[in-house]
Amino acid sequence: MKTNALNRRDFIAKSSIGLVGTGVGLMNSGFIGEKHHSLNIAEQNKIKEYRVLGRTGFRVSDIGCGTMGISNENVLRQIIASGVNFLDTAEAYANGNNELMVGRAIKDIPRKNVFINTKIYVGPNDTVESLKLRVQKCLERLQTNYIDGIMIWSASSVETIRNEIFHEAFKQLKSEGRVKYCGVTCHGTAWIEEPRENMEQIIGAAAEDGRFDMVMFVYNYIQQEMGEHILAVCAKKNIGTTLMKTDPFGGAYLFIIDRVKNLQKENQPLSDDIKKIYDKIMENQLKAEAYLQQNNLSDVNIRREAAIGFALNNPSAHSALITFKTFEDIDNYIRLSGVRLTAKTLSLIEVLKETYGHLYCRHACGLCESSCPSQVQVNRIMRYNHYFMAQGREKYAIQKYHEISGLKAENCLDCEGYCEKSCPFGVPVHLLLAVAHQNMSLGEA
Ligand code: SF4
Ligand code: SF4
Repeated sequence: MKTNALNRRDFIAKSSIGLVGTGVGLMNSGFIGEKHHSLNIAEQNKIKEYRVLGRTGFRVSDIGCGTMGISNENVLRQIIASGVNFLDTAEAYANGNNELMVGRAIKDIPRKNVFINTKIYVGPNDTVESLKLRVQKCLERLQTNYIDGIMIWSASSVETIRNEIFHEAFKQLKSEGRVKYCGVTCHGTAWIEEPRENMEQIIGAAAEDGRFDMVMFVYNYIQQEMGEHILAVCAKKNIGTTLMKTDPFGGAYLFIIDRVKNLQKENQPLSDDIKKIYDKIMENQLKAEAYLQQNNLSDVNIRREAAIGFALNNPSAHSALITFKTFEDIDNYIRLSGVRLTAKTLSLIEVLKETYGHLYCRHACGLCESSCPSQVQVNRIMRYNHYFMAQGREKYAIQKYHEISGLKAENCLDCEGYCEKSCPFGVPVHLLLAVAHQNMSLGEA
């Protein structure tokens, strides 16, 4: 697994070439201070656009930072120095160590220069006191007197966002000056055990509720419709919007191609599932390849530009969160600040949707889950597999996969694939579940 992850990164690195400038009009933020200039950061690696995060009034960088994948705090320091000022963490990331790292990275900069967002899980046994105590622990780990944004993590029902315990705790924390704004994130629900409500219903209810200042949800060029509805309702209510999974594939399909090539090079056997999904990818890729090459659209950088350009093209979207891991990611993504869709990237999106759209299990979906006789949480498993393959967060994905209650994808191997037959998007999810199981089960049955 480790070898593959390294090879994938090498692959991406080798595929990278300089990005052609997009000539986008820039907004003047007035944020970047002398400290950032003193680091002598190349112009292409500075944030060029800031947007007002709804009713919070804070001017956030259009490229925000999901900190969960960062293990080297110098990477985070450089991200901040580049002008990124929305930093997203959570109490549970790396068992609190992620907040500790964020705390160390922001210690030496003026506190008001960054918007710190953290997330807490709100469970049925929580009390006002227990939530306040946990937020206090977040404050201590972050080494700060106040947290800008505190979000309910992964709300799994409309009921969760109306949790009066959370709202009372937030009210008290706010009056004590320990937190400023409240929000909510959503990854959809596991229909087997949770209400059959989708991301749009849950985030929409939060927007209508009136007590939330900001939200975080999935929006990308394949999963467009739900996100657009959410953005419209948030714009009406002046709610800040932060976006997850803006690049629907990340390195996912590259990862599979890379893995197969390495296994072949080493004369290692390929499992049937990997081989089948690889053949599917290659079949589709071959169809698109001539057009992509002819139009200079086959490079991974232009694909990133298209994904971020799509998300930022919507003026109601305030910050597209990137899961940064390395210095290389800084090079790859900060330069996309201020980017918009162009005729070229729009045509690429059309091809990508056509070529790979059916390989993408929509986040926060779950429409097929009721057809599974084993009650497998298809969408949750595919989300963890996205962490594994597209975001390179292998350890975290494996941990989350093991935490899933009930049956996991080991049941899929000998199944007829009822879920796949009921997927309206034609996702070959039967095979993808088998690959997900291989990825995250560490060779277990
Ligand atoms: S396989 Fe299809 S129906 Fe099932 S969760 Fe994914 S996108 Fe939704
Ligand atoms: S492949 Fe079979 S067991 Fe696996 S999720 Fe689909 S229906 Fe359920």
